[in-house]
Amino acid sequence: MTVAGKGRLSGKRAVVTGAGSGIGRASAVLFALEGASVVAVDRVEDAVDETAAMIRANGGTVLSVAADVGDEESVKTFINLSVEKHGGLDVVYANAGISGGLVPLGEQSVEYWLEILRINLIGPFLAIKHASPIMAKQGFGSIVCTASVAGLRANAGGLPYSASKAGVISLVQTSANELYGTGVRVNAVCPGLIETGMTKPIFDNARARGTEGKIGQLNPLKRNGVPEEIANMALFLASDEASYVNGQAFAVDGGLSSTHPFSG
Ligand code: NAD
Repeated sequence: MTVAGKGRLSGKRAVVTGAGSGIGRASAVLFALEGASVVAVDRVEDAVDETAAMIRANGGTVLSVAADVGDEESVKTFINLSVEKHGGLDVVYANAGISGGLVPLGEQSVEYWLEILRINLIGPFLAIKHASPIMAKQGFGSIVCTASVAGLRANAGGLPYSASKAGVISLVQTSANELYGTGVRVNAVCPGLIETGMTKPIFDNARARGTEGKIGQLNPLKRNGVPEEIANMALFLASDEASYVNGQAFAVDGGLSSTHPFSG
């Protein structure tokens, strides 16, 4: 069955990373539904192939790529694939990321830090580096990165994770300035707690202890978010509806970062 969207990305060529699961999968599916030709990227081949199958089942156009977002040659290849196979590049959603878990400070190795920074911060940097010249040449384009409320507030994630996400917020602000005059917009989405592959252990533990209902209680909306609610913000930022939105980071967290004690 073909499900029609509203055409908010009609005719656009988009790359979405981390498209094999959670927020990236929901976004790749939504972008295609809204008319984009999508290059879906994930390091887990089966997972991204499954996302591509979902998009094709909706009648969408998609290429599925297994690649590591922290590897510069791979990033060049999947960015160029959009140009070669879909005829251009209008949108990049640099979303792939890892949490790294919660490791006590004294046990955090340099290698542990470097791997989190490589994927969460260098990944979006490489996407901006290689997508922006293509977009600048045409005079427009939208790059969206996934940061986190952990990048906005202390005590919402592990140390290198939070530092990497604060880095993503600085990356979008500074890139918007670096790309002065090019017509390329760069923004970030900062999700709150969303049930995905990344946060599954939190929810599984709570279910095992029978405390699942408590996880969302701190949130003013009294619930956690779902990937589609982040995808909706990424869609808005990717689309021409956000044509004057640039260099910003938006919390999509039900109000948690404004109201929880960690907001101070
Ligand atoms: P997820 O684990 O469900 O999805 C992340 C996807 O990224 C996975 O499919 C994984 O294989 C892929 N990936 C990881 N490293 C990669 C690499 N080097 N190259 C290519 N693909 C890679 O998690 P999610 O929650 O959907 O995470 C998406 C983004 O949202 C991440 O940047 C994460 O930090 C951010 N985020 C998530 C939450 C949350 O509560 N789930 C909150 C704030 C921010």
